Amino acid sequence: MKLLVIGSGGREHALTWRLLKSPRVSHVLVAPGNGGTATMDNVTNVDAHTPQELVELARRENVGLTVVGPEAPLAAGVVDAFEAAGLPIFGPTRAAAQLESSKDFAKQFMLRHGIPTAAYETFTDPVKAHAYIDEQGAPIVIKADGLAAGKGVVVATTVQEAHDAVQAMLGDSSLGQAGARVVIEACLTGEEASFIVMADGKHILPLASSQDHKRLLDGDQGPNTGGMGAYSPAPVVSPVLHERIMKEVIEPTIAGMAADGISYRGFLYAGVMIGDGDDETRPIGVLEFNCRMGDPETQPIMMRLQSDLLDAVQAAVAGTLDQISLQWDPRTALGVVMASAGYPGKVRTGDVIHGLREVMDARDEMVVFHAGTALVDGNVQTSSGRVLCVTALGDSVQAARERAYTALERISFEGAQYRKDIAWRAIKR
Ligand code: ATP
Repeated sequence: MKLLVIGSGGREHALTWRLLKSPRVSHVLVAPGNGGTATMDNVTNVDAHTPQELVELARRENVGLTVVGPEAPLAAGVVDAFEAAGLPIFGPTRAAAQLESSKDFAKQFMLRHGIPTAAYETFTDPVKAHAYIDEQGAPIVIKADGLAAGKGVVVATTVQEAHDAVQAMLGDSSLGQAGARVVIEACLTGEEASFIVMADGKHILPLASSQDHKRLLDGDQGPNTGGMGAYSPAPVVSPVLHERIMKEVIEPTIAGMAADGISYRGFLYAGVMIGDGDDETRPIGVLEFNCRMGDPETQPIMMRLQSDLLDAVQAAVAGTLDQISLQWDPRTALGVVMASAGYPGKVRTGDVIHGLREVMDARDEMVVFHAGTALVDGNVQTSSGRVLCVTALGDSVQAARERAYTALERISFEGAQYRKDIAWRAIKR
């Protein structure tokens, strides 16, 4: 079967890599793909962007199934367009994707369905927002309502910082329409985990747990990023917490969407803050929903997945996800992101990446997933902020980490930056 994967990040490279391991997959088209997918056997990058272009591509190429990676095409209605054209696709509709594309929608939804999350208010009027901040004090979290590519959240440690964020979003329109409405919410404390599932509207299939590293610098310092590294499993998600997150967050979300008349089919990602205490009673709160897999969490999760991903995706599209169970490699997988100089601000691009061939691992226990890369005149070059995610399997977190960093240190490009402490929480345990 020929598949289409929509997106260009490390997540899409990892999904393509895993899907290709299915004996039933003959070829994968990636739209638009990156320098990593450009160099894979049985993979072709294609230039298609809008829902209409993607529908035409799928028809023309006789694509048997399409998998959507990022949030932007989902919010643009790519799933609605495919469904209207009678083409099979895995991802939530535009209505379902509001769980991510509008923070206000997500908060109202959680409140309505009793899903634990931080207390909040939503504002369009800056005067009222500033007054609310004065009333609540700091720390406090300011969030742009719409999609802002990871730049829409300010965790303000002082009241002044919170006022500045509101001024930027509501006053100066720094994020355009995405920030024309803001959610202001209480600051939760604890340890974050990424809990990702597949859903078919009714049944739920959880994937392995994982943990991202949002901040740019070691010790969780510096600005927020799209994610600087991840590993799976996340030891904080004990079996008890796994059960609780399923019962208290995921099941009421899928059931609540259905009760609201929206069938949720696709990957669903809950970013969960786990407070202190015993697993039975410690507080859990949803920080955010994403209507897709996380990047970089997908990379270690796909390295650990041993089952056929195509079987699971097809079952999800058919509404028979209850018949699927997934096998996971018991080892830890850990991915370290290499980013361009300047990231997450204005980045330097167009530098040749050296060492990629030298670190290739025939056993697939170490894979370099590409994100912001492009194949130019036979050379792989940097093309945006997050460039690579060097991902390795190991018998322990330490072993996976050592293998990933050993490979990473042999790869180089001008101005490369990366964190040196991925999985510090798991190692501290
Ligand atoms: P993403 O790039 O993952 O889509 P986003 O822009 O949707 O990010 P969130 O994930 O909602 O933003 O928030 C980003 C980060 O800010 C979270 O991972 C978490 O570290 C922090 N954060 C968000 N909400 C809160 C909160 N209520 N309390 C404490 N920290 C928070």
